[in-house]
Amino acid sequence: MQNYIFTSDIFKGSRYEKGHPLDMDRVWPSVELLKLMGWVNDNQIIKNEVASIEELIKYHDKGYVEALQQAEINQYLPDIYKKKYNIGVGNNPIFKEVFSRPASAAKASIKAIEMLANNDAKRILNFSGGTHHGRKSEAYGFCFLNDCVLAILRALELGFSNILYVDIDAHHCDGVQDVFVEHENVTVVSVHEKDRWPKTGLVEDCKIHNIMNFPVPEGFNDDEMNIIIKNAVLPLGNSIKPDLLIIQAGSDMLDGDPQSRLSLTNNGYWKAISDLLTICNTSLTLGGGGYNPYLTAKAWAGNWALVNNHIEWLDDDIPLSCQELLKNLKWNNSRVRNGIPDHWLKSWRDPVSKSIVRDEVLFLLDKVLKIKKI
Ligand SMILES: [Zn+2]
Repeated sequence: MQNYIFTSDIFKGSRYEKGHPLDMDRVWPSVELLKLMGWVNDNQIIKNEVASIEELIKYHDKGYVEALQQAEINQYLPDIYKKKYNIGVGNNPIFKEVFSRPASAAKASIKAIEMLANNDAKRILNFSGGTHHGRKSEAYGFCFLNDCVLAILRALELGFSNILYVDIDAHHCDGVQDVFVEHENVTVVSVHEKDRWPKTGLVEDCKIHNIMNFPVPEGFNDDEMNIIIKNAVLPLGNSIKPDLLIIQAGSDMLDGDPQSRLSLTNNGYWKAISDLLTICNTSLTLGGGGYNPYLTAKAWAGNWALVNNHIEWLDDDIPLSCQELLKNLKWNNSRVRNGIPDHWLKSWRDPVSKSIVRDEVLFLLDKVLKIKKI
């Protein structure tokens, strides 16, 4: 049975407003890399449609979804609605595709779940998904809808009864935890930077039966990620034996991402994801955060190698055609003022960095294992 990947033309040329962290391209370059590498067949790429209102209001408020549509049509919302729904406010700007882009991402996650439930596929990727901050009737943290919540709700509707959601984005998955906290059929695990916005995801939440949180310190590295996955997340996953695994694979934990102070290389990132994939044969792997376009395109394209059990693909250098694609991605950030570092362009893997597991991480792991009695 072959694996699938969702994408949409809407992501080509769609950007948040100038100066926003999402004023750059991530989804289409990741897919384009796969095509240039010859890692994917055309019939494995599914074009996202736009979710219907009926599909979206399984979670979101109808008034909110309609306001989002109006914001797209008119490129404007009256102040009263802006305030009520947090649309066009702060980091959640009204942009050209402010409804149809998140609604495409949401449809892809919903459709992926339907394919998995129907046994049409075992592993699916949706780079445009992972919008884990979206609220029922509020835009939050660059997220206008919450495809993760919509996917889990659809999965429950279709008979999955033991869903494991694991989120390795640098930011806590507040929008997902809040919906499924204490749910009998959903377990929510998150590894995220401590004290970073939205500042939720405390370790004390582990006292709740279906929540496991690892708020990790600045400088969090590959070996530290590995001991958390190996000693806590894998044992938890293997004991609950989920019938569906959803991985939010935000790449903003990577060293070089401007939205976190974590120091993972893609070696640690991919090791974590390939280990997580062993927990369950049926999985949906999403995108999420990722604000360095070169690192994110490589990380997400690499996830396709992992879901296809071809981790060895990532040991190669990057061919010139792919380097050109990466080089041409525009990024207005001081990190590339003097050019794009070679190791972001020339090889799939980052250089292996020597790292030690710090006491703070060992204490955090110990605390979680004690609370969870693992
Ligand atoms: Zn993030």
